Amino acid sequence: MLKSIATVALKGALIEKLDAVARAGFTAVEIFENDLVVSDLTPAEIARELAARGLACICFQPFRDFEGLAGEARVRAFERARRKFELMNTLGTDLMLVCSSVVADASADPEVIAADFRELGDLAAAHGVRVGYEALAWGRHVHDHRQAWDIVRRADHPSIGLILDSFHSLARGIPTESIADIRGDKIFLVQIADAPATPMELLYWSRHFRCFPGQGDFDLTAYVAEIVKTGYRGALSLEIFNDRFRAWFPAQIAEDGWRSLVNLEDRIARRLGPRADLRALPEKVVPSGVTFLEFAAHGSEAQELRTLFGALGFAEQGRHRTKAVSRFVQGGINLVLNEEPTGFAHAYSVAHGASVCAVGIGTRDFATAPLRAEAMGMAAYTQQTAPGELQIPSLRGVGGSLLSFTPPEPGADFWNTDFEPVATAADVSIGLTRVDHVAQSMPLEEFLSWQLYYTSLLAVERMPSVDIPDPSGLVQSQAIQSADGALRFTLNGAGGQTLASRFVNAYFGAGVQHIAFATDDIFRTAEALRRNGVETLRLPANYYDDLEARFGLDADLLARLAAHDVLFDRDAFGDYFQIYSRAFHKRFFFEVVQRGAYAGYGAPNAPVRLAAQARVGGATAAVP
Ligand code: MG
Ligand code: MG
Repeated sequence: MLKSIATVALKGALIEKLDAVARAGFTAVEIFENDLVVSDLTPAEIARELAARGLACICFQPFRDFEGLAGEARVRAFERARRKFELMNTLGTDLMLVCSSVVADASADPEVIAADFRELGDLAAAHGVRVGYEALAWGRHVHDHRQAWDIVRRADHPSIGLILDSFHSLARGIPTESIADIRGDKIFLVQIADAPATPMELLYWSRHFRCFPGQGDFDLTAYVAEIVKTGYRGALSLEIFNDRFRAWFPAQIAEDGWRSLVNLEDRIARRLGPRADLRALPEKVVPSGVTFLEFAAHGSEAQELRTLFGALGFAEQGRHRTKAVSRFVQGGINLVLNEEPTGFAHAYSVAHGASVCAVGIGTRDFATAPLRAEAMGMAAYTQQTAPGELQIPSLRGVGGSLLSFTPPEPGADFWNTDFEPVATAADVSIGLTRVDHVAQSMPLEEFLSWQLYYTSLLAVERMPSVDIPDPSGLVQSQAIQSADGALRFTLNGAGGQTLASRFVNAYFGAGVQHIAFATDDIFRTAEALRRNGVETLRLPANYYDDLEARFGLDADLLARLAAHDVLFDRDAFGDYFQIYSRAFHKRFFFEVVQRGAYAGYGAPNAPVRLAAQARVGGATAAVP
């Protein structure tokens, strides 16, 4: 399907917006009137700039408060429309969006409104243009696409059609099946927006919280599939009003928009079955879990990390045959330490300091994963390898780090291709079995971008987003996980002066903030951590008093929790135990969890953890 975006979605001057839109892959735009009014380019110059970028302007919008007027106001509305039609001729677009009126004393009579549109249709036809009528969810008299369709039918004019906007339909809960009553050839344009299902006033919701398909809670697959069934073959055009989008880099927002539409088209194609006008992509990648975490480090920080890995119970089991790269193993966890003096990891550690530069995901689809990614505009990354070495399919992910794909449970045949096994001494395990979850922090403005990145690429579900109080503000946190819980990522959008934003700042951008390892015996692991000299986060006595009050835990258990600074939570499925390490150079930290059947991530404990981290402030954990 033809993919379009309205200029209102993006930040910047009109030319910057057009650049971002064209680079992201769009070939069509809607020009938002205000973007034109404030531009110092004439409509003719804008037409040339559009053509130079291979962009068609498919709609000029919005034209407000047109219908149901009387007397001088009605004359004025038609004169205003005539002027805009002339402008559209210069701009090279043939469609104007008229949204339903909010004027208090405009007529509610559908015959009167239809007569206005019939007359407007004649004026439009005289200028070689068309008019699409859109029901605003908060329109004075017309606020439902069924009413707007009724008026278009009554107007019965070839130059008057309907514009559907998913926000206006779905925010009011209008049944999607009602679209089946609309004639496809009378739908002049379809505008697409998603939104979080948060009850709020319609106008405010629309102007601030619209988002790209897949970032919110509307069932856009069903909505657009119903439209396709009417025979509509026009554009899907993103019309998004979102404060965060308008505060962020237009190139990234435009890329997200493109990705969201390609992903939506794939979902519709799967729903409706194979057809020539809908492009299906390779299946979403089904993840089996995190198979490795690669740390980039150099100099003394690399030494510190090596020591810390040892204290966390990891044994060095392999050395890369041609590179300064080591592999550390415990249970089913692989940590790779990359100390190469050149190349990607080195550049990454110079930019961010010692940090996670790649996350490996296991999947049976590891060879085809890049195909789906590429179709959605995700950048592939090709590693420099020596002959005979593994070429691991990788993409650029959060903050420029890599997302790599491996077989589900890479064994000796996988690792020993590149790594010379190292004979290990005694078992140093402290009981860590696997990666439970990986938490990534990012500026709030990037939060929805990375959410879309993961949910459009991987077969994962979004858990409800939670706001976590931080000593200096709020953090938006959301878990993304596979249905079986084998892969769990948490995304933390950090704004203002929050502690999470301090991680983002210390890191110079988005990246892995903490890694949670699973244990089957939290106290055994806690004792081993203490024995190995790993500093963990100290928790206040008040916290344990509160735990006792909330859960009525027995005195023995409570004393053990307090003695080892273990956090506790309980849900309908089970108990959850957590220990946090002190942060490594303020950039990232480790967590150990005992999960059982517990479903969450200890959100009630997050403020306790954040306050404890704020107390130790800038102090960096001593390395054992
Ligand atoms: Mg609209
Ligand atoms: Mg965690």
